[in-house]
Amino acid sequence: MMTRDGLTGTLNKRSFLDIIGREFRRSASRNTPLSLILFDIDHFKLVNDTHGHLAGDEVLQEMGRRISEVIAEHDVFARYGGEEFAILLSGVPAEEAAELAERCRVAVEATPFKTSVQPLDITISAGVADMTRVPKKESESELVQVADEKLYEGKRGGRNRVCVQSNSPFVVDGSRERVPFTTISKLL
Ligand code: GH3
Ligand code: MG
Ligand code: MG
Repeated sequence: MMTRDGLTGTLNKRSFLDIIGREFRRSASRNTPLSLILFDIDHFKLVNDTHGHLAGDEVLQEMGRRISEVIAEHDVFARYGGEEFAILLSGVPAEEAAELAERCRVAVEATPFKTSVQPLDITISAGVADMTRVPKKESESELVQVADEKLYEGKRGGRNRVCVQSNSPFVVDGSRERVPFTTISKLL
């Protein structure tokens, strides 16, 4: 069975759903942290419309490479939809996952993406959820739903930012001034 996405080399959605189901049950039975980052390329339709579908594909490929360099080898990294990706972090609580999401955001923003047309400025928005803060813990879809809600909060808030499900304010590096795009939000 195919486990990887042909374009980006990341795990495909099917294998991601298998893994998140397994990790969800493990996390629920042992009461260990399990965090999910969902991120989505900002205004990607505009990239395609302005520079063509091929340039869009090249951005997706570069995204796979760039994020792979930020995360650990054992982190579960998947293409969740067209221009949406997921990172599943077993044993990692929300604050740590949000820090990783912020590092991903910065890695994307930091340098333009090379394409055969021209270098392109790309940004992502991310939502972070943590099992220990999900109310019912009946299904992994709760985790996905919360991460998705946080992602869309980031989109509504202006994009290029990380929104985390949190009980307490989250500050990436102790200095809000240096991370002006990071949004603090309380769900529970
Ligand atoms: P937002 O910031 O709200 O996420 O805006 P957006 O334009 O990124 O979102 P929207 O959902 O409107 O557009 C997503 C686009 O992603 C539309 C679709 O054509 C494109 N897309 C999805 N899969 C692929 C792909 O494999 N290759 C290319 N080039 N484009 C893709
Ligand atoms: Mg998008
Ligand atoms: Mg999308």
